[in-house]
Amino acid sequence: MEHYDFIALGGGNAGLTASKRVKAAGKKVALIDPTPVGGLCSLNGCNPKKVLVRAVEVLHLVREAGEHGIRTGEAKIDWSAVIDRKHRFTDSVTDNTEKGLRAAKVDYIKAPARFTAPDRLEVNGRALAFDGVIVATGSAPRCLSFPGADLVATSDQILEARTVPSRLAIIGAGAVALEFAHVFARLGSNVHVLNRGQEALKGHDRELVSRLVSHLQSLGVVFHNGVEVKAVEANPTSYDVQLSDGVKVGADLVLNAAGRPANLEGLCLEKAQVQYSEHGVDVNECLRSPGNPRIFAAGDAHGARELSPVASYEGAIVAHNFLHGEERRVDYSAIPSAIFTVPPLGCSRFDRGWGAQTGPRCRSCHARHVGVDRFPHCRGEAFIRQSDQRKKQRPHRGRASLRPGG
Ligand SMILES: Cc1cc2nc3c(=O)[nH]c(=O)nc-3n(C[C@H](O)[C@H](O)[C@H](O)COP(=O)(O)OP(=O)(O)OC[C@H]3O[C@@H](n4cnc5c(N)ncnc54)[C@H](O)[C@@H]3O)c2cc1C
Repeated sequence: MEHYDFIALGGGNAGLTASKRVKAAGKKVALIDPTPVGGLCSLNGCNPKKVLVRAVEVLHLVREAGEHGIRTGEAKIDWSAVIDRKHRFTDSVTDNTEKGLRAAKVDYIKAPARFTAPDRLEVNGRALAFDGVIVATGSAPRCLSFPGADLVATSDQILEARTVPSRLAIIGAGAVALEFAHVFARLGSNVHVLNRGQEALKGHDRELVSRLVSHLQSLGVVFHNGVEVKAVEANPTSYDVQLSDGVKVGADLVLNAAGRPANLEGLCLEKAQVQYSEHGVDVNECLRSPGNPRIFAAGDAHGARELSPVASYEGAIVAHNFLHGEERRVDYSAIPSAIFTVPPLGCSRFDRGWGAQTGPRCRSCHARHVGVDRFPHCRGEAFIRQSDQRKKQRPHRGRASLRPGG
């Protein structure tokens, strides 16, 4: 039977980082992924989304150019050209990733894998033995269970849409939901955000979120909080989204932005004695499975923080702990994050929930006309919150801002 020192399941940020690092230490390494490698972030997540966000940001700047004495005429956007531009960033990702794996001498196997024992995998009928595996299989859009759920589009699909829907209904109110709400509202779509909870962007600074929500409302976004989607019905030209409060929302496109549980389907983790839930593979602070120390998990498959730099960071921790046996622990105490709207909401901490941060050491300031001393008449608005709570064990510092330029 063929033996590998280390196998990465998944060719996104987490799996690529871990496999290349372990290979660089001279080990025999394979990366297994049944779909095109490169990862969600580069192919259908962060990067393509930012192409769309940048397009509407430029549209916004051109539209306000007149205020600065710049005559441009009416600004119009050719959305299909924006999607073409997005493809210029995404189309080469898989080829380049495959080349990178070849250059690194990582064996790439394009097939689904499943565990058959605590130290065995089966791929295409081939049995592979291993000393270590990283489960880095990412996440998948949440399965929705109401009638008509099959009519709802995923973020992959909306990133491909070449026409701008005149009415867009978005299920969910997290980062991805608000980012797409912002893009399409700026393009003139009538956007409805359908939120099961009472507030958007859980875990972020409440004051800034409420300002961002007001800003989105000023662009025409309608928020429905505390509602469930009961059904989506197709009519000849569009959809009707039936909500639990009796309201019916008409839409040309309905987007599933209701979160992304870990993608562990078909791996047969039970055979490897690995515990998991819909939140991801259970791991300790060293990203090792308590049930099977040969197995690690990182990135969205682990699910602690669904951010691409975190996936890469965790992949590196796994490589280190596999190679050196010494247990490096994950530290999420300073993870910057951003909501890519215009203006963006930036936060230098994520882990404890900004909502809890109040008290004498938490300061807020609202600054209009940012940098007015150095740049007279520049336009902008910033709202910044700083927290500096020195607790006995762990100092608690952070900053969140809603301002031009992040
Ligand atoms: C629309 C959108 C926008 C986003 N924007 C941002 C952003 O601005 N900033 C940010 O930090 N994060 C963002 N994210 C989140 C970010 O993309 C993810 O957190 C990150 O890419 C996860 O990396 P990963 O390596 O864990 O998984 P992935 O990159 O998803 O890689 C998992 C890989 O595993 C493969 N796979 C699946 N099943 C199997 C199997 N059974 N066996 C082997 N391989 C398998 C998949 O094909 C895939 O290639 C965004 C996500 C979305 C959806």
